Amino acid sequence: VLTAGGVRRSFGVSVVLDGIDLTIAPGEVVALLGGSGSGKSTLLRILAGLDPDASGNVRRPLHHAVVFQEHRLLPWKRVLDNVALGLSGPDVRTRARAALAEVGLPDRDTAWPAELSGGQAQRVAVARALVREPELLLLDEPFGALDALTRLRMQQLFIRLREQHGFAALLVTHDVDEALLLADRTLVLEGGRLVEDAPVPLAHPRTPDDPAFGALRRHL
Ligand code: ATP
Ligand code: MG
Repeated sequence: VLTAGGVRRSFGVSVVLDGIDLTIAPGEVVALLGGSGSGKSTLLRILAGLDPDASGNVRRPLHHAVVFQEHRLLPWKRVLDNVALGLSGPDVRTRARAALAEVGLPDRDTAWPAELSGGQAQRVAVARALVREPELLLLDEPFGALDALTRLRMQQLFIRLREQHGFAALLVTHDVDEALLLADRTLVLEGGRLVEDAPVPLAHPRTPDDPAFGALRRHL
């Protein structure tokens, strides 16, 4: 669903991405790990088509959506209008309401972004991505700014949504546990190159039914 070849990006004399080749299969979730400043966000922006100054080839599906670490909702638009932003058609508002219900916010349509908690705002950002029915989601530390329990809940939401929608995703994260929980495969970016590409063992615990979640499951 995504193919990138020979992706390079420099800022001045500093080469941040030095030839990245990457393929993501339909429905596959790939985690991208790497130190701070290793170029993860730069790569994600290129894959999303948001960086006109990068070189290399990227083939991405028409239906793709991006979720950033900060929700990037427009403060002057109500929640429902943020979700429906840029879409047209007679059923847009119905679809936007359905997406909000899916992320567990069925009754906040008319709220302003400033009235939401960080976790709720991030749910709206996920709804805004989902309503576009993306074949590919590009997520840049989407749960990084959330408290630990909200993060666990969002991770479980991601697992459910993935089962229902079957999207492929590239998930940038600092959190190895999150990568193992959510991804089928993990990549490590270092020195401008992908230095690791490893499948996640299927035995890794993923849902609260797994005993590894212990008593925490009651809070999810
Ligand atoms: P983090 O984990 O902290 O989010 P990252 O892996 O996402 O880090 P990037 O944001 O991609 O890192 O940045 C990679 C490098 O490119 C950094 O050294 C950064 O300073 C540099 N860089 C990114 N964007 C620009 C820009 N617009 N102008 C100049 N340098 C930039
Ligand atoms: Mg980043």
